[in-house]
Amino acid sequence: MVVTIDETCCVLCGLCTGVCPPNALELTPQKLEVLPHCTECGWCVPFCPVGAISGARPRAGRRPGRP
Ligand code: SF4
Ligand code: SF4
Repeated sequence: MVVTIDETCCVLCGLCTGVCPPNALELTPQKLEVLPHCTECGWCVPFCPVGAISGARPRAGRRPGRP
């Protein structure tokens, strides 16, 4: 499964970019891009106010990548 951004509803607010553990979201003035090193952890999904992020694995109970 691959994380995708629905460009028809993404408002380019940048909220998701600040919470991604491996910093895999890149915001430009025109577009939000998911970079290849995205781990599909799902952490960013609930932070999006418009539900534009899909395709991630179900979110685990703790912060991904942190022991
Ligand atoms: S699924 Fe995880 S690694 Fe991928 S963009 Fe979202 S927070 Fe970052
Ligand atoms: S949080 Fe949602 S609306 Fe904001 S930039 Fe990320 S995907 Fe787009």
